[in-house]
Amino acid sequence: MKVDHIFIATKNKGKVREFELFFQKKGIEVKSLLDLEEDIDVLEDGQTFEENAVKKAEVIGKRIGSPVLADDSGLEVDALEGRPGIYSARFAGPEKSDEKNNEKLLQELKGLPAEKRTARFVCVLAVYVPGGNTSTYRGTCEGIIAEEPRGSNGFGYDPLFYLPSLDKTMAELDKSEKNELSHRANALKVLEEKGDF
Ligand code: IMP
Repeated sequence: MKVDHIFIATKNKGKVREFELFFQKKGIEVKSLLDLEEDIDVLEDGQTFEENAVKKAEVIGKRIGSPVLADDSGLEVDALEGRPGIYSARFAGPEKSDEKNNEKLLQELKGLPAEKRTARFVCVLAVYVPGGNTSTYRGTCEGIIAEEPRGSNGFGYDPLFYLPSLDKTMAELDKSEKNELSHRANALKVLEEKGDF
């Protein structure tokens, strides 16, 4: 794909910076929803991370007539048959609360031994280019849901997401360590390997 700029479908400055570092190396200018005058709301009503990411990229991309990268991510817990999945942000109810989500997760896994607490973060990136197809790239990061929270970095389920190889939770990693091994980083590696840019 030959593009000279790409809009990242987020207002989260941390995410924008992460993608900026990646695309700048390729000479592609990065913009974000923070650079747009209008607010474009997209209802995430898909059944998969892919459906949600593609919808977000295409709705915004068609409205502004530019290449757009959108992401959708969440936590899949094996003992819960993949829940909370696409509903990760609002696992504990309609108002968004990381603390309540983590409490609910601990409650649902109560009494389960470590080997049954396996989980993964999933990130799907969708890239829409006007006049072309929308491509998706999926990255994951495997871990175990701890029995109590540890660490204060990051957000969401990070304090409960234990990485056995590092003997740390995601919330005990600093930003650059997390950016090396996160599901988002792994999705970017897939995008890089496919050579689409
Ligand atoms: P989003 O698609 O990036 O907005 O993520 C949706 C939800 O998934 C967040 O509100 C978190 O609950 C969870 N989540 C996604 N990525 C992470 C992460 O890196 N750490 C912890 N929780 C995450």
